[in-house]
Amino acid sequence: MFLKSSLLNKIFFWILPLLAIFVWVLDAYASPPVTIVKGLAKLSGLIGIAFIANSFLHASRFGFVEKIYGGLDKVYKSHKKSGRYAYVFIFLHPLFLATSSVFNLESLKLHYIPGSLLNYNTGMGAFYLLNILLLFTLVIKLPYHIWKYTHKLMIVVLFLSSVHVFQNSFGVVWLFNFVLIVLGTGSFIYREWIYGNLDKKYIYEISAIRNLGIINELQLKPRAEKLLFKAGQFVFIKFLDSNLISKEAHPFSISSDPHDEIIRISAKSLGDYTSTLDRARVGDLVKIVGPHGYFTVDKTERKQLWISGGIGTTPFLSMVNDSDVLDLVFVHSNKNNNDAVYLSELQEKSKAKDFKLIPHFSDSEGFINAEYIQNNIPDFKEREIYICGPSVMMYALRDMLIKLGVEKDRIKFEDFNFK
Ligand SMILES: Cc1cc2nc3c(=O)[nH]c(=O)nc-3n(C[C@H](O)[C@H](O)[C@H](O)COP(=O)(O)OP(=O)(O)OC[C@H]3O[C@@H](n4cnc5c(N)ncnc54)[C@H](O)[C@@H]3O)c2cc1C
Repeated sequence: MFLKSSLLNKIFFWILPLLAIFVWVLDAYASPPVTIVKGLAKLSGLIGIAFIANSFLHASRFGFVEKIYGGLDKVYKSHKKSGRYAYVFIFLHPLFLATSSVFNLESLKLHYIPGSLLNYNTGMGAFYLLNILLLFTLVIKLPYHIWKYTHKLMIVVLFLSSVHVFQNSFGVVWLFNFVLIVLGTGSFIYREWIYGNLDKKYIYEISAIRNLGIINELQLKPRAEKLLFKAGQFVFIKFLDSNLISKEAHPFSISSDPHDEIIRISAKSLGDYTSTLDRARVGDLVKIVGPHGYFTVDKTERKQLWISGGIGTTPFLSMVNDSDVLDLVFVHSNKNNNDAVYLSELQEKSKAKDFKLIPHFSDSEGFINAEYIQNNIPDFKEREIYICGPSVMMYALRDMLIKLGVEKDRIKFEDFNFK
């Protein structure tokens, strides 16, 4: 099942850029480029704009895209990859053009400094705006909620690039560009104005709050319809009537049993938003949008190994309720005993559900490494592996497990970082 999904997401990721190459070949056949470099300029421009549309498609939150990738976190990784590739090809486009005949100051000026040619200016506008926006993404680290607004301006990059292509092309290239702008803006409109309204939402009320040091735990009671979810899934939470907490929607895994009436959210104070959650009050209303995610228990694989790091424990707190039929080993890692606020809850569950819980403390034992896995879970290669924790830990563990011979498709993980 995982193998099929990884093949499908590769096809989905590459389909538009490959179509761009196909369209370029058709176009070159109909009207051959004057020089090879001019031809390459057109090709890089076309692939570049295909990747821009692709990155919008990957940020759309269309349910089918999430399904293809097996989780929104993976979709966002491909969104980022698409953006990076778009930049490389868009960067090459004016460079090829400037060097396509004579390479001198005049040709550089013509392709890099806006002038009287409107059909060039649109392309330059897209190029420079893309550079500025990427500066905000990669170099100047803006707070997430501000960065998010700058990032939305990517739609202007798509728009200007498309106008540039419309101005400079005809035939099959024109048509392909039309498809790309429809796909890109359609995805943007869906993400901005339709998704939040169409997706099922539920009104909940805070019924209890627990402060566990750096973690604020909110218990939510349904006002009317109860959200149905699978253990391990996450939701977007939006405060509706609090004057003390921003109304921005944030994603959180549900850390409670799907059979319970109450939903529990355990939020670690990390930044602008999460550090204000201690201002939540019993009775505050929240809108829940979801459920999302595919980080759920696959009961067809009996032998499993779960590894949690820090706040990455939250989906597992829900998943342990679904672990009856599993032969499960759960490595629960925290810095130290003080940080392990859910250890006693998990110890009780491990007795009730009969799984092996291995607490791990990185302050005294160091980070989990190959030796640790081999010594503590000798049959790890026979197990399906689930990991959730800080990104650095997850990717390091995944690479290490692959080196030890675990098939990539047998490792499932949930990344709490969308950016
Ligand atoms: C699938 C998923 C499940 C999560 N589950 C939990 C959980 O159970 N407990 C927990 O403590 N945290 C969880 N998180 C992380 C939590 O959403 C972020 O810590 C929180 O949104 C940070 O917001 P901030 O403003 O406090 O921090 P900031 O410092 O502003 O942001 C830190 C990072 O959080 C992400 N982020 C910030 N705002 C948003 C937003 N509105 N939408 C999406 N991502 C955003 C970005 O990657 C950003 O770089 C989860 C994240 C994801 C993606």
